[in-house]
Amino acid sequence: MSEELNPFKIAQQQLDNVAKLLDLKKGVHEYLRHTQRELTVNFPVKMDNGDIKIFTGYRIQYNNVRGPCKGGIRYHPDVTLDEVRALAAWMTWKSAVVGIPYGGAKGGVVCNPKEMSQNELERLTRRFTSEISIIIGPEKDIPAPDVYTNAQTMAWIMDTYSMIKGYSVPGVVTGKPISIGGSLGRNEATARGCMFVIREALKHLDYKVIPPEVWRKECEDDGSSICDGDEGTGYRIDGAKVAIQGFGNAGSIAAKLLSGKGAKVIAVSDTRGGILNKDGLDIEKVIEHKAKTGSVIGFEGTELLGHKQVLEVECDVLVPAALENQITNDNVDNVKAKIVAEAANGPTTPEADQILSDKKIMVLPDILANAGGVTVSYFEWVQGLQSFFWSERDVNVRLKEIMVKAFENVLEMSKRHGVDNRTGAYIVAVKRVADAIMHRGIFP
Ligand code: NAD
Repeated sequence: MSEELNPFKIAQQQLDNVAKLLDLKKGVHEYLRHTQRELTVNFPVKMDNGDIKIFTGYRIQYNNVRGPCKGGIRYHPDVTLDEVRALAAWMTWKSAVVGIPYGGAKGGVVCNPKEMSQNELERLTRRFTSEISIIIGPEKDIPAPDVYTNAQTMAWIMDTYSMIKGYSVPGVVTGKPISIGGSLGRNEATARGCMFVIREALKHLDYKVIPPEVWRKECEDDGSSICDGDEGTGYRIDGAKVAIQGFGNAGSIAAKLLSGKGAKVIAVSDTRGGILNKDGLDIEKVIEHKAKTGSVIGFEGTELLGHKQVLEVECDVLVPAALENQITNDNVDNVKAKIVAEAANGPTTPEADQILSDKKIMVLPDILANAGGVTVSYFEWVQGLQSFFWSERDVNVRLKEIMVKAFENVLEMSKRHGVDNRTGAYIVAVKRVADAIMHRGIFP
């Protein structure tokens, strides 16, 4: 039988695995296997050449029992209803695993932003926002960026929603530009959260980390300044070898932050392919190269890798930061990392997951490893509601507290039940959602 690649079936399977361990009531388990609300929209957009093109988009609210629904919007030619359902389910578990008061949602539009102009993308975003405006809102469902959407996309959504309401509603989205109520540190948050849990995992695996006192002393001695909120308590992970698939918001910033903490990022990739330099890449320069040429490939002094080869590089930490179903039955035997930190959502299939677990490779599951994004989205929403904005240092310090605590909770649960970290994370998350259901009761 061929491997299951439907993301929603995979998400349901992941839930089913823990339902037994948690002894979930049958009705609650069934409730949690389903999305709460699904909106499909088909809408016209005027293209630059005067043609009218019809696009399909989705907004799915998975569960709002712990708070308003929250989740990004993805623009990609391969977006499907089941993919968006899965991403909405994962958002529900993610918010729960880090203990922030949100439910889960996700949106997507089937389109190829690489072939569209900025004006076309703006018209598509504004019309899609108008179509889904009946279900989003700061107390109901709050979108954020995901693959091929960014702060500018959020600004268009915020402006369109505000025009419909007749007043400014910055709280309808997070991941906004700072000028309209965005949070400092949000752009880096997914990657920063991922860096924090990678560091904890390396420490846990007895990797030789440099303790904060030594690091601080070195900084004082050479006069370098560290002011990202990590000084005094953070560890350096000097020499840890890292490979990263995907070089967008999650991947490129993870590369930058991890190398800033002493790691040696030896391989990175994007849609055009990968690059390897066993002595370590100068990440700032790779970012510049990609900005200039559109890809990481062709960066000086590197060996060219195929798309999936980056996943098979000999390293301490592998960070999939692109799309779903990248580590599968076909290539899992070639994964040589000690830690797989899932910055992407759903990069590992259940069968591959089992093999990683058998091989004693530590997986930092997506609902934990990339939860930094939704956490700082929550901070942005809170700051907006209070009209009181925090320093970047405060944002980072609070993010670190939440990520380290979530890592410890997951590890403790995995040990207690003798299961892998994904199952441990699901136990923490699903229990929190199920408890909320039991306390609220079933209406009417
Ligand atoms: P992005 O649009 O900024 O970047 C996506 C990157 O993936 C690009 O570099 C693209 O070239 C690359 N890519 C796409 N297909 C690839 C392939 N087959 N091989 C190699 N690279 C490929 O998107 P992003 O926001 O960085 O999202 C990446 C992943 O992180 C997604 O799974 C997303 O759901 C997840 N995520 C993002 C956030 C966030 O805040 N942006 C939060 C949580 C999770």
